[in-house]
Amino acid sequence: MSFDQLLGQPVAVRILTLALQRGHVHHAYRFEGPAGVGKERAAFALAQALVCSEPTSERLACGSCSACRRAVTLSPDEPCVPGHPDVILVARGLYSKTLGKSESNGISVQQIREVVLNRAGYSPHEGRALVFIIRDAHELTLQAANALLKTLEEPPPATHFILLTDSPGRMLDTIRSRTLALRFGPLPDAVVARILEANGVDAGVARFAGGSAARALELSDVELSERRAEFVENIKRALQAPDLGSAISGLDLRNKDRRELRQELAFLGHSLAERARVVVSKDPASAEKAARRYAAVSESMEALEQNASPALTVESLIATLRRG
Ligand SMILES: [Zn+2]
Repeated sequence: MSFDQLLGQPVAVRILTLALQRGHVHHAYRFEGPAGVGKERAAFALAQALVCSEPTSERLACGSCSACRRAVTLSPDEPCVPGHPDVILVARGLYSKTLGKSESNGISVQQIREVVLNRAGYSPHEGRALVFIIRDAHELTLQAANALLKTLEEPPPATHFILLTDSPGRMLDTIRSRTLALRFGPLPDAVVARILEANGVDAGVARFAGGSAARALELSDVELSERRAEFVENIKRALQAPDLGSAISGLDLRNKDRRELRQELAFLGHSLAERARVVVSKDPASAEKAARRYAAVSESMEALEQNASPALTVESLIATLRRG
């Protein structure tokens, strides 16, 4: 998993490559950006370059030595961690069995003590560097974050931290101020489509994924599609209800989850766009209607991104769709 394979993030790749080439890799990065745009892949590519035993003349990973391969290969058995002893993955629940904790509140202080602090005091096992990758770092509990501060600020030599987050606003200021931010933007649709194709999946859902490869793969997931089909059916029923009040009361929106709704709306948008495409030649009027509805769904998705409440988003979408 070299930087060449990291699609759609040219700025981040350039910054990290230059840091490696100049030998100025920061000791604590914070990779910020939406889920599924390559932050974790970039973190592993950086870790690989740092632990590679036969780096290129530009200090980049060779990609083929044993260290390179083990740095980016996760164990198939729990805990699913890299095979390289100097690339250490930290994530909520990852070590539940060994810690004897479910970590339902977040990455625990026990995990930080046992997996990070106990290890950070020693030199790398195999030589070049010790790299900690913290997945969803906004999930560090307050105690865990505080326990990490000192080491994050002044890690031992050749020790690097890479914190990954799609919610930097949920991190403590003290953690943010001790890490160097690197932003990862949404991926262009064409890149998402290429990733879907590489996974043997219909690339048509790419444009409903908001620039996230993970979301696109979720959208094409057959198991999840049943629940989304049910959502589409519920919306159809709401459009046929005699009045807006009964249309909305028929939907259970009280505990609607934002993330789930985003996926359901994306699925609804996808099915409307498909409908518009299929009927466009034989029934232009209904194709036009489907296209209008598709635009309304896209607006709802945007409203949701701007933090509109899930329940209100659905209610106002239904009101718009009922008008035609
Ligand atoms: Zn190598």
